[in-house]
Parts: sequence; C-alpha cells; structure tokens
Amino acid sequence: MSKESPVIGVLALQGAVREHAAALRAAGAETEAIKWPDQLAGIAGLIIPGGESTTIGKLMVKYGFIQAIRDLAASGRPVYGSCAGLIAVAKRITEGTDPWLSLMDIEATRNAFGRQQESFEAEIAIPVLGAPFTGVFIRAPWIETAGSGVDILAEYDGRKIMARENNILVTAFHPELTTDTRVHEYFIDMVREA
Ligand code: GLN
Repeated sequence: MSKESPVIGVLALQGAVREHAAALRAAGAETEAIKWPDQLAGIAGLIIPGGESTTIGKLMVKYGFIQAIRDLAASGRPVYGSCAGLIAVAKRITEGTDPWLSLMDIEATRNAFGRQQESFEAEIAIPVLGAPFTGVFIRAPWIETAGSGVDILAEYDGRKIMARENNILVTAFHPELTTDTRVHEYFIDMVREA
C-alpha cells in the first residue's frame, strides 16, 4: 500500500457505490468496486454504502462476504458503513432483524427518523471535523444504544448519528451525496494510520 494513496474498496452489491468511489477519489484515495470476497485481500479499507440493508445483507450472505469482511476488520483494516452500512455493521438491530456483520457494539434502529422526516438535510456539528457538516438523511437509521467502547462523534436532535469504535466508523447520513469530502478524508486517515 502506498502511504499517499491507499486503495479503499467500496462494497458494490447494491446502493450508493459510485458516489462513494467519487468522494474517495476527490479526497485523494484510490478505489476499487468490490464484487467478490477475494478482492478484499488487495484493499486497505472498505466502505459499505447506503442502500437497502436487507438487500445488502442477503447479498453479503449469498456471495460469502460475511466472514471475509469480519476477517478484514479483525486484521485491523478500517471499515466505514454509511446508512444501510451502519445497519450492516451493528451488533444489534432493533425490532427482530438479526445482525449481519456484528462489527460495532451498537444497536441500530432502521428508518428511525420516521415518516415526517423520511429524508432531510441538516447542519450537524461533528467536532472531529471542525466546521458543521451538511448531513443528508434518507430513511436513515440512528444509533439507539452504544457500548462504552464506542466514541459518539455526532448527534442530531439528541440522536446518535456518527460513531467510531477502533477501526470501525459509521454515519447515519450520506456524505457521498455532498461535495464535502471531510468524512471520507477522516476515513482515509483511519486507513493510513491502521
Ligand atoms: N432504510 C434503509 C435500510 O434500512 C437505509 C437507507 C439508506 O441507506 N439510505 O436499509
């Protein structure tokens, strides 16, 4: 891995794959669309995009990604899940859905912001990034509860919407749908430090 431009994979089963790839490139990383588990060997970190967590989860099972991504995370390489990706990495999911990857000690509640606020944008304070960030929320989850090892990096309306536990990062919103690459830069820094 080159220190200047690590290759970061974007899980390309369903969802906002191209947008994450574009944001990574804009932030100075190389990127690869990950369609098969054997591609994970060549990447320094992985993004699980937003989309539909049930679809992404079922496809991860079908194509043999569950253990492969757990192994990648266990090797210390960073994983970032946005929106449906947050649900994919959670150890617990509210309301009966079994967890998929169980990488982060959080409980995720799907579609949590409810009908009136299905999709919205809001300025959110993310202290680790400095100035406020425009959060794009699309049928977004929130983090219902988090274990003591989880750092909550942002809240909106009293709800936990960005968190980090060691090499795992999650956002309930979609930074890849804005031109602000600071969340991707933060993740690239995690990858460089790993
Ligand atoms: N509501 C979706 C789910 O539960 C997530 C939405 C998104 O990723 N934009 O999977």
